[in-house]
Amino acid sequence: MARPAKARVFAGALLNNVGVARGHAPNSRLLACVKADGYGHGITSVARIIEDSVDGFAVASIEEAEAIRDSGLKKPVLLLEGPQSADELTLAAERSYIPCINEAHQLQWLESSGRSFPALWFKIDTGMHRLGFEPGQAAEVVRRLQPLAERGNLVACTHFACADEPGDNGCDRQLRRFDDAVGGLPAEQSCANSAAIMSLPASHRHWIRPGYMLYGGSPFANRSAPSLNLLSAMELSAEVISVRNVARGDAVGYGGRWVAQRDSRIATVAIGYGDGYPRHAVDGTPVFVEGERCYLAGRVSMDMITVDVTDQPATRIGSAVTLWGEQLPIDEVAHYADTIGYELLAAMPPRVSRETVT
Ligand SMILES: *Cc1c(COP(=O)(O)O)cnc(C)c1O
Repeated sequence: MARPAKARVFAGALLNNVGVARGHAPNSRLLACVKADGYGHGITSVARIIEDSVDGFAVASIEEAEAIRDSGLKKPVLLLEGPQSADELTLAAERSYIPCINEAHQLQWLESSGRSFPALWFKIDTGMHRLGFEPGQAAEVVRRLQPLAERGNLVACTHFACADEPGDNGCDRQLRRFDDAVGGLPAEQSCANSAAIMSLPASHRHWIRPGYMLYGGSPFANRSAPSLNLLSAMELSAEVISVRNVARGDAVGYGGRWVAQRDSRIATVAIGYGDGYPRHAVDGTPVFVEGERCYLAGRVSMDMITVDVTDQPATRIGSAVTLWGEQLPIDEVAHYADTIGYELLAAMPPRVSRETVT
């Protein structure tokens, strides 16, 4: 029998969430971020589902770009980190990918390749201090890139360090630096990730770059996905494979972390950290069994978890279990595991089967 741990991916939710992003920024074009295997949802199935609703895709590596092209999709593909070698740049030119030029050595590869591209992006470091040219270099970068882009098609971009934090979080200052650097230069502009799309209209510009929100996650610690009209695009589910009684005072699982405070019933569920369920989830992390909220009891193992179902006496072998999804936002589960939903999705292993629901 197939392992019961599986991820169902909902086409309708993905399309709804693209619509939410568009609703926030109706005058911008939309590049869907599908890096990290489509945030764990399966890059080619996500790209196929949303292709007609987006203006292009953004990926982190040439392999991801190839996965999109190899599946027959024609929309523009942006390489967010740019080429990682001169050879990669040649391949990018042959396949008409759009490199984002972030660094001087990439600009040199580009100039010595003599290749031209349908468009070229370049990044300005306005405060994230991870990638990008200094603001003062923008004019020179534009001058050097222009002859290599068809019709001089350039896009200046930057990335926010703290767009997910409320209040005066430095985005305004980054945006001012960006405007000082590229305002008046002959290039379109792109700044906004999911958080900025939903909270900073001044950042929308020509191109928005939503990622996490497309999958139904909230980038904000203090706002839930449903309150943002986002629908969970993934339901991670499994089944109960054993149910047993444990006496008050007995411990459950590795290290005996969870100790029964009353005579209890424990369901063992066929999902563990080998299936992307976070090992750091604490006792009390919500787990839905047959649609009812129950709680993790004991450490997460590689292939199994244990759940306190004392108050759900109908639980039996084969009962359906939901680890996250529409009923249980992934952001909530991530919180109990001291991480973010982004990490849970990006870490989804191939052994969990993905099934697309249209
Ligand atoms: C991943 C990424 C995004 C998308 O960020 P989300 O928070 O997932 O919306 C946008 N821009 C760049 C440069 C990225 O690397």
